[in-house]
Amino acid sequence: MTTETQKETLGFQAEVKQLLRLMIHSLYSNKEIFLRELISNASDACDKLRFEALSDGALYEGESELKIRVAYDKDARTITLSDNGIGMSRNEVIENIGTIARSGTREFLDRLTGDQAKDAHLIGQFGVGFYSSFIVADKVTVVTRRAGLTAEHGVQWESSGEGDYTLETVSKETHGTEVTLHLREGEDDFLSDWRLQSIIRKYSDHITLPILMRLEGKEEDTAVNQANALWARPKADISDEQYTEFYKHVAHDFEPPLAHVHSKVEGKQEYTMLLYAPAHAPFDLWDRQPRHGIKLYVRRVFIMEDLDKLMPHYLRFVRGVIDSNDLPLNVSREILQHSKDIDAIRAGASKKVLGMLEDLAENDKEKYATFWREFGRVLKEGVGEDHANKERIAKLLRFATTHADTETGDVSLADYVARMKEGQSKLYYVTADSFAAAKNSPHLEIFRKKGVEVILLHDRVDEWLVSNLPEFEGHALQSVAKGDLDLGQLDDAEEKQAREQEQSTYKDFVEKIQAALSEQVKAVRISHRLTDSPACLVVDEQEMGMNLERMLKAAGQNVPQSKPILEVNPQHPLLALLQNEADAARFGDFSQILFNQALLAEGGQLEDPAGFVKKLNSLMLALASR
Ligand code: ADP
Ligand code: MG
Repeated sequence: MTTETQKETLGFQAEVKQLLRLMIHSLYSNKEIFLRELISNASDACDKLRFEALSDGALYEGESELKIRVAYDKDARTITLSDNGIGMSRNEVIENIGTIARSGTREFLDRLTGDQAKDAHLIGQFGVGFYSSFIVADKVTVVTRRAGLTAEHGVQWESSGEGDYTLETVSKETHGTEVTLHLREGEDDFLSDWRLQSIIRKYSDHITLPILMRLEGKEEDTAVNQANALWARPKADISDEQYTEFYKHVAHDFEPPLAHVHSKVEGKQEYTMLLYAPAHAPFDLWDRQPRHGIKLYVRRVFIMEDLDKLMPHYLRFVRGVIDSNDLPLNVSREILQHSKDIDAIRAGASKKVLGMLEDLAENDKEKYATFWREFGRVLKEGVGEDHANKERIAKLLRFATTHADTETGDVSLADYVARMKEGQSKLYYVTADSFAAAKNSPHLEIFRKKGVEVILLHDRVDEWLVSNLPEFEGHALQSVAKGDLDLGQLDDAEEKQAREQEQSTYKDFVEKIQAALSEQVKAVRISHRLTDSPACLVVDEQEMGMNLERMLKAAGQNVPQSKPILEVNPQHPLLALLQNEADAARFGDFSQILFNQALLAEGGQLEDPAGFVKKLNSLMLALASR
C-alpha cells in the first residue's frame, strides 16, 4: 500500500464547519433542493468534460453520451447520483469540496445575523451547492475519478458534515462522480420513485442531459426530464418557474432573478440568448477573476463558460446562455478572443440586456431600485466603456440629489431635467468622498436657496462617470465647485447688479486677503455660491476637481500641482470682523483660518493641522477678551 492509498482524515476549514451548521438549519424548510444542487453539479461536470474533449476526444473513454442517473436503496436508506462527467482528481476533491476557497467567506460569515429568515437568504446568496446534501444526509460519500486518469486513481471522500472528512484512494472503472447520501432519520419519504421524479421535474427539467431513473418494476431506464434546451423552446411553452429554475442552475444562485430576456436574433449572425439580471451582487463582483459568466452553446452543444468575451465588462453581472447557430463547434478560447462574430454577438446581446433593464426601470420601479442598489456602481462604468450605448446607459443611471436629500438615490437624469427651473440650462452636481460631505457641501448653499436641484455624487466611480458624461440630452453637466458660477437666467437683473456692486465695494479687502494667502491660493474673489458659510474653495472650469485630485493622490498617482481659488462671502459676520481687523499679523492668521476651514469643509486635509489649531485658539482668545 502506498501512502496515497491510505485513508486519511482531513479537517474542513473552520469556516466550513460553521457554514454547514448554519445551512442545515436555515435551508431545512426547503430541503428537497439538495437534489437540484447535485444534479446541477453533475450537469456542470458533463459540460466540462465536453469542453475538454473538444481538444482531446480520448477523455470520453469511448462513451460520449453524457448522462446523469438517480437511484435509491430503500433498505440501505441511500440516494445515489452518478454522472459520467469530468470527475475530480484527489487534489480537486480537496480544493472543491474540502474547502470553500472563495474570497469573502469571512466577511460573509460576519454578516450573518442569527435571524433564520435573513440568514437563509444570505446562505442562498453565498451558494452552498454541494454542501446542501447535509440537509437530508448525515453522511455523504463521494466516489470520483477524473477523466483521463486511470482506474486506480479513483478517490473516495466521506464526511458526516461535522468537522472533518476522510479521503481514500479507490479504484473506479468509469470516469465521473457518484454521490451517495445516507439519509438522516425521518427523511425516508425521499426513497420513492414518485417523490424523486416530482422533485426532478420541478427543479431540473431544464437540464439538457437526460436524467435517468430505473423506475420500480421497469426493465430499462426512463429519462425523467425533458432534456431539451430550455432556451430553444418557444417562450409561450416556458413557465415562470422554469425560467427561474434554469437561472438558478446557470447562475449558481439560490434566489430567483430580477428579470430575464429571451430572444432569438436572426440576420448576419443567428443566435438565441436567455439572459438574466440577478437579484443580488455575487461575492466576486469586484474580483479580477469572477467564477461565473455566460454559457456559450453552439447549436445546443455546450462549448464553454465565458467570463469576459460575450458581455462587456460593465454588464459582467449578467448570467445565462447564448447559443450560436454559426460558430464552429470546435471554437476555442483563442478563437473567441479575436472573433468578429463574437463581437457582433456581444454588441447584440448588450443591447438586449439594456432593453431588459429599461423595461424594468419603466415597469417595476421597486425591482429596478434593487437592481440599482446591487449593480448601479458597475453599470456606471458603462458610460465610459460603451460609447455606442452611452445615451441609453445614461438614462438608466440613478442618483441621490438635493431634491430628497437621502442617500438611496432614485433620481434619473430625466427626472432631474423635468424638474429644472425656468431659465436653468445645466445639470448641477457636486462630488465628494461621502454622502454627508456631498450633502453638506457649502457649494450647494445658493442652489438650495434658489431651489435648484443638485446631484450628490459620492461613489468613487462618479468622478470617472462625470468625466465621461459632459452632457445629457443637450444640457451640460456642471460641477458646482468649478469655474466662476454663472447661474444664467436663474439670476434676475437686480441680483446681477448687486453683485457687480459687491465686486467694487470689496475690491481692496479681497486683494488684502489674497496677499495674505498668496502661497495657498491662485486667487480670492467674492462668492455668489454661499449664503451661510464664510468661504469655500473652487477650481477653474478646465481644472481637475479637488475631490478627484485627492483620489488620484491617494492612489499614488502624480497629480500636477495646482492652487484653488478662495471664494468669500462678504455677508458673513466673520468677514465683517476680518474687514475691521487693523492688526496686520492677526489679519494674516484670520485669513489662514478662513482658507483652512474651507479646505476642511471640502473634505481636504490641512498641511499643518497643529498650526491651524494654534491660530484658531489665539484668535478665539483675542475675540473673547474684546
Ligand atoms: P458550484 O457548483 O457553485 O461551484 P458547489 O458547492 O455546488 O458549488 O460545487 C463545488 C465544486 O465541486 C464544483 O465547482 C465542482 O468543481 C465540484 N463538484 C461538485 N460536484 C461535482 C461532480 N458531480 N463532478 C465533478 N465536480 C463536482
Ligand atoms: Mg453547484
